[in-house]
Amino acid sequence: MNKILIIEDEKPIAELLKYGLEKEGFRAFVALTGKDGLNLMEKEHPDVILLDLMLPDVDGLSICKTVTMNKNIPIIIVSARNDQVDKLIGLEYGADDYITKPFDIREVILRIKSILRRIQKTMDAEVTAEVLTVGSLVMDIQKHEVTKDGEIIELTPKEFLLLETLMRKNGKVLTRAELLEKVWEFEYLGDTRTVDIHIQRLRKKLKDDKLIVTVFGVGYKIQS
Ligand code: CA
Repeated sequence: MNKILIIEDEKPIAELLKYGLEKEGFRAFVALTGKDGLNLMEKEHPDVILLDLMLPDVDGLSICKTVTMNKNIPIIIVSARNDQVDKLIGLEYGADDYITKPFDIREVILRIKSILRRIQKTMDAEVTAEVLTVGSLVMDIQKHEVTKDGEIIELTPKEFLLLETLMRKNGKVLTRAELLEKVWEFEYLGDTRTVDIHIQRLRKKLKDDKLIVTVFGVGYKIQS
């Protein structure tokens, strides 16, 4: 469930936003001052912040600056100040969007959803664009490709996943049981020889006996 922090000193507006967001399935938190807002942000780690600019204790713009410099939390400014300069400064300070009061709650929800969608897209792209390396061994997760000294190594899906699991641990030992669980899920649980056979095949394909190390009585690790 996505969390939204509302920093807004006008209680009726804050309550309206909270009600509308919760009806839409968000978890909403209200802070009536800038200071409370920053405290709640530390405590709840919201996904998006709705920020009023005119607050009793601090200027919303300074909150905007503080948040965007230190955190990776998108901000939507919700302000009565329908001022082109404020809007520009807000966006310059790192706010993602700017909504003018009076607002339509449906519009606020649409903007939040659009930001969340964009974040999800970026996160997906980061995951798939990942490249793992150990020495001259390179694994490109997105391309599903492994190279060693620049040469492509053809691996079966299980071999690929086994190698990926070892590479993600980067030098730390994995027991045979852990590898079985991670690579084969539970289909072969109990038969740790499956792991040994695949490790032997990997070593052969990588033309390297030293890269994947047998830790006697424990399991395997990979190191350059
Ligand atoms: Ca206000």
